[in-house]
Amino acid sequence: MKKRALSGIKPTGNLHLGNYLGAVKGFLDLQADKEVDNFYFIADYHALNGVPNPQDLRDRTLHIFKALISLGLDPEQSTIFVQSDIPEHVELCWLLTGLTPVGLMERAHAYKDAIAHIKNPNMGLLCYPILQAADILIYDPQWVPVGADQKQHIEISRDLAEKFNRIYGETFIVPDPLIKEDLAIIPGTDGEKMSKSKNNVIQIFGTEKEIKAQIMSIQTDSTPLEEPKDFDACHIYNIYKYFATPTELTKMQDNYRGGNYGYGHAKLALLEKLLEYFAPARQRMDELDKNEDEVRLLMKKGAEKARGRAQKKIQQVRKAMGLGEFYA
Ligand code: AMP
Repeated sequence: MKKRALSGIKPTGNLHLGNYLGAVKGFLDLQADKEVDNFYFIADYHALNGVPNPQDLRDRTLHIFKALISLGLDPEQSTIFVQSDIPEHVELCWLLTGLTPVGLMERAHAYKDAIAHIKNPNMGLLCYPILQAADILIYDPQWVPVGADQKQHIEISRDLAEKFNRIYGETFIVPDPLIKEDLAIIPGTDGEKMSKSKNNVIQIFGTEKEIKAQIMSIQTDSTPLEEPKDFDACHIYNIYKYFATPTELTKMQDNYRGGNYGYGHAKLALLEKLLEYFAPARQRMDELDKNEDEVRLLMKKGAEKARGRAQKKIQQVRKAMGLGEFYA
């Protein structure tokens, strides 16, 4: 039997290099494996934690959906859908809350990081990993391909699946995270984790002008132009290395070592590389932008495929927990 992989991306901003390298690239590898049944969704319920403007949320959801297809996810081969088209995710989330210790949520790294700069965190932020567990467990995937930043959340999903199975009988598959350890966490323009909420991203589908401005804002040290530079410590190089060929990489390292090569030069080389690398995807995005009816039809089909599965699972869960079934 085919194994299932499932993952999601929040529509809190436009798709960036961290999402591509940490997540989408892995989705594409899995899609290429004919033994894997792939489910990918846009996590718009999760985006509500930031209380977005409704029109912005719609626009970003549509953007991420189109971005996934532009980058090569194929709706014929993978089930691609919008989370809020499947309200069963929210029901399962509630059904899991009774099994979730408050302390477990309070200890989650992402929550601790968030409350370090958010004064009044909302319940959505605290309960985020429970909804994430519901998103995953409702489709019975064996694998959850994510970036290294999500490792702890997947462990929480595993804990909840195991606990549910112990109490109510075998119901959920306990999923494994699929993390490309060598990828670690992709740095943003400030060297911190690239993140839509931190204003440090490099977008994939922005205009050339926007992408150039984002690259130009990458922080560097003040080593003068003439002097040799340490490429390993440079945020520009640490993004460039994921896209360059081995020959291009050696050349870039020589440039850094040799001196008379400024950070401005490296930034332009990165811009050129990214535009070349993403040219086919950017073109496909332009086509989808002009054909939104097609996009909406693909969304509908994805939702229908996913919902059928989610509804079956939620019936099984309700039965196991003693809910409903009082009449035919
Ligand atoms: P999010 O945008 O937080 O919904 O993340 C979507 C996916 O992108 C998740 O699998 C994350 O692990 C991955 N991701 C987001 N930012 C980064 C980053 N800076 N480095 C690596 N992976 C990332």
